[in-house]
Amino acid sequence: MKKYLVKPATKVDLRVHDPADTSAYNGGKKHGKEDLAKLNRELEALQEMLFAQHEHRLLIVLQGMDTSGKDGVIRHVFEGVNPQGVRVAGFKVPTPIELDHDYLWRVHARTPGRGEMVIFNRSHYEDVLVVRVHALVPEKVWSKRYAQINAFEKTLAEEGTTILKFFLHISPEEQRERLRARLEDPTKHWKYNPGDLKERQLWGKYTKAYEDVLSKTSTTQAPWYVIPADKKWYRNWVIASILAETLKGLKMSYPEPEYDAAAELKAFEQEAALPKASRK
Ligand code: AMP
Ligand code: MG
Repeated sequence: MKKYLVKPATKVDLRVHDPADTSAYNGGKKHGKEDLAKLNRELEALQEMLFAQHEHRLLIVLQGMDTSGKDGVIRHVFEGVNPQGVRVAGFKVPTPIELDHDYLWRVHARTPGRGEMVIFNRSHYEDVLVVRVHALVPEKVWSKRYAQINAFEKTLAEEGTTILKFFLHISPEEQRERLRARLEDPTKHWKYNPGDLKERQLWGKYTKAYEDVLSKTSTTQAPWYVIPADKKWYRNWVIASILAETLKGLKMSYPEPEYDAAAELKAFEQEAALPKASRK
């Protein structure tokens, strides 16, 4: 899935990335969904090994405009994966305590430990996205953050964290349809926020801010992928494929037990053969 990878230090122009692209999949939605189910099972097994081996850490960063499908990816890509080994960290408007610290403080605390998979639903990138678009801090502050973020992610990677970052790329037309669906269906009203329409007016500014993120912070250790996200099945299939590929690349194995399994089995058989009366 190299075609969606942003090569380090390339200038990204999102206009040349088609949000409705489905060209890496040979087949339609129906088969795509079936293949996703297979990938779900593969990811389930890979996650179990990650957890058992207790060595690697995996961090998945999800960013994208409202309705781009961050929640949908979490639901569908990780379906079947044992909840004990996966943690979702959502980043909302910072609390007063969080604002009293540097912007990476709340982020670092939620990174994965050994054997863990953590999904960031939004992330430290909001500090160069919404913060930049709304001028929540001066430019001289946010403009330094790209290099700071690269240094932060380099530290995580060098200490053993595998990092994958996905930008869910949707078109404004698709967003309009999804917002309409949220307003027309009472069971989706909770997902809508009157502020979403105002943010939508800033589409151009967000696009520019995303292009800068993608151009400045895709590194070998923490690459960005621009995921076509107008078609939900394709978005899920691409992300699941990249995850499975990455996890297989870690060449994980189950840990060797620190005891002699054959001897334990023998002892177990003997124990099972004890007569009932001697078990008191
Ligand atoms: P949602 O993901 O739709 O539940 O909304 C979370 C909101 O929190 C979004 O509007 C984000 O832009 C906002 N948010 C997240 N991180 C920050 C941040 N560092 N500064 C300001 N707003 C943020
Ligand atoms: Mg929202």
